[in-house]
Amino acid sequence: MRRALGWAGGRLRGPEASVSGRMCSGGGGGDGADRRFPLAGRVAVITGSTDGIGLAVARRLGRDGAHVVLSSRQQENVTRAVASLQAEGLSVSGTVCHIGKTEDRERLVAKHSGGVDFLVCVAGVNPLVRSTWEASEQIWDKILDVNVKSPALLLGLLVPHMEKRGYGPRGWSVQWGGGCRIIPGSELLGPYNVSKTAILGLTKTLALELKPKGIRVNCLAPGLIKTNFSQVVRIDIMIFIKPPPSLCPRTGKPEDCAGVVSFLCSPDAGYITGETIVVAGGSPRL
Ligand code: NAP
Repeated sequence: MRRALGWAGGRLRGPEASVSGRMCSGGGGGDGADRRFPLAGRVAVITGSTDGIGLAVARRLGRDGAHVVLSSRQQENVTRAVASLQAEGLSVSGTVCHIGKTEDRERLVAKHSGGVDFLVCVAGVNPLVRSTWEASEQIWDKILDVNVKSPALLLGLLVPHMEKRGYGPRGWSVQWGGGCRIIPGSELLGPYNVSKTAILGLTKTLALELKPKGIRVNCLAPGLIKTNFSQVVRIDIMIFIKPPPSLCPRTGKPEDCAGVVSFLCSPDAGYITGETIVVAGGSPRL
């Protein structure tokens, strides 16, 4: 088993609560934080976290000491992922939450009203692998709803609970799964690309708006990461674009994203907000 963590029934206990990330200081060194567990005593809510990038992020934040709240649409996926991380000795709970459903977002927040330090929004959809001008109104609505509007609404619900934590200098942070252009092949991802680019603007806007509350907002922009989600894209790139090997983007692993998210949550990133970090093996950016 890993160490016992400070999360119990929605309340924090123990000295881990003094860990902090000051907005205007030079990081977490020398603040009494246990460097082996930089997120000890913190609570992280992660959407879309029962598989792929979200699960890798959950595992990493758990290993770094946080209590992690997993969520996704399917109860069986939540049950499986929670059991798997608990078997690794991590402090994990889980809730069904379809990010696009109002009642699911409200239930997720109600269950964790004791306080949340980090919101990591990973859930996203891409129901169309075609061009922007071919997309129907329904496709546009679904993509913008799930990828852009719903994470912002979830954050809106969680901000009062983040404020409740109220210990020491506040350094909460939010990460979004932002977009990064993969060449060749990004032309197959029309509205999806637009939605992910919108997240870059959302990050900048929210960072300014939430700065007075000490809440940091940053964005992770992954390149092509080997998951179920990207399988269709990877196949389409090979079939339709037939890129020369020199232009084929190397696929990353979900774990390639996880450490960056943990860093952005940590006191070491206490002076970083409104930024997008690209994890894409050198792929060009939008
Ligand atoms: P993945 O391996 O397919 O995992 C997706 C996860 O999200 C699963 O846990 C799934 O579980 C959950 N999920 C799907 N729709 C959801 C919804 N509406 N509400 C809540 N949970 C939902 O996908 P991934 O590759 O890790 O992608 C995750 C995110 O990274 C997406 O936003 C994607 O746009 C972004 N991204 C991925 C890549 C890449 O190359 N893989 C690159 C850039 C950005 P359930 O089925 O139980 O809901």
